[in-house]
Amino acid sequence: ALEIQAFEAGSPPPHALSIDLGDRSYPIHIGQLDWLGCLAEAQLGGRLAVVISNPVVAPLYSSRLISALRTRFAAVELHVAPDGEVAKEWSSLQAILGKLADLGADRDVVLFALGGGVIGDLTGFAAAIYMRGVCFVQVPTTLLAQVDSSVGGKTGINLPQGKNLVGAFHQPQAVWADLDVLGTLPAREYSAGLAEVIKYGPVADPAFFAWLERNMDALMARDHTALMTAVRRACEIKAAVVAADEREGGVRAILNFGHTFGHALEAGLGYGALLHGEAVALGMLMATELSVRALGLDSQLLQRLKSLLERAQLPVRAPYLDPERFLQLMRGDKKAAAGSIRYVLIPVLGQACLQVAPDALALEAIASHSAS
Ligand code: NAD
Ligand code: MG
Repeated sequence: ALEIQAFEAGSPPPHALSIDLGDRSYPIHIGQLDWLGCLAEAQLGGRLAVVISNPVVAPLYSSRLISALRTRFAAVELHVAPDGEVAKEWSSLQAILGKLADLGADRDVVLFALGGGVIGDLTGFAAAIYMRGVCFVQVPTTLLAQVDSSVGGKTGINLPQGKNLVGAFHQPQAVWADLDVLGTLPAREYSAGLAEVIKYGPVADPAFFAWLERNMDALMARDHTALMTAVRRACEIKAAVVAADEREGGVRAILNFGHTFGHALEAGLGYGALLHGEAVALGMLMATELSVRALGLDSQLLQRLKSLLERAQLPVRAPYLDPERFLQLMRGDKKAAAGSIRYVLIPVLGQACLQVAPDALALEAIASHSAS
């Protein structure tokens, strides 16, 4: 059963929360990079640390991370993978594994993923398979990575046939999120991250949804206090969901709210046309519309969600995609069990369920939020 502690907007945020997975439990810290050396975990020290980053993030932040790690490790090395989704492929994985072998890294090496979700997924997968598994720490530098991809242990790379088709569940030793690094994130990437923050409201937390409505202007200004509440709350919810269902046998699927429609949009329009978070924003509108039509959800929520997304500078009208193709893509979505599309729907604000719906209603939901 899913248990999420109550949302308290006013309370002073703790700087660490934890994800409860038995002997794979780990802390999520929200704090400046420079203090990462203070991580309490005893195993996070030793002979060798390898920081994996990319050509955008490394020049901005790697020296601060490396200085912090020098207090704990005898040697700290930096490996720079390519930027962007293209880095999630065999050649970059091989380059990391080869570098580790060249450095003589043994099972005590600790990898640090300094970057967005791409670097996190790639580094995590390298850590999962190098010498059958070594420790790694997530140091997420995009909003999306801080509130979503760095927590939960999914790692992997893409194939030409599809995204995330190869990977492993491998939990990090810790997550260290520095809110200040979000200051250099491009506006469009920041907004895309906000879509994944907003997602947690409709499926799990009405009070957080209302808090987002009151604080969207502060979040758009990247206000530190507002970000602290948003990132902490998103991580709390994700941690509770992952703790209840580490390998996505059930409740973890609610985190895919908006993703069935969203993945179809991303694939149908060609990857890169929309950022993932933008596709999720549009997908959430369609899933909410479908919830109104199929489950009688109060249609007022649709308006509230739309205006929240608009304030986050996210798209609210999808480019046209042929409706039959749209359905076909959703049937091919790896989350669709054998032909029937199971949508994450919200019978009431703050609750989610996984369920099939008539194609006719899904087509209406798509048309209501797409260009004709
Ligand atoms: P990303 O990692 O490509 O980062 C977006 C861009 O921002 C990149 O160009 C990056 O170099 C740049 N950047 C990162 N931090 C910056 C900073 N602080 N300042 C300036 N620029 C910065 O994209 P993303 O949205 O973070 O992650 C997307 C990836 O995450 C996808 O591959 C997706 O499959 C994966 N993902 C994984 C999970 C999971 O559970 N493992 C969940 C969601 C998404
Ligand atoms: Mg997502």
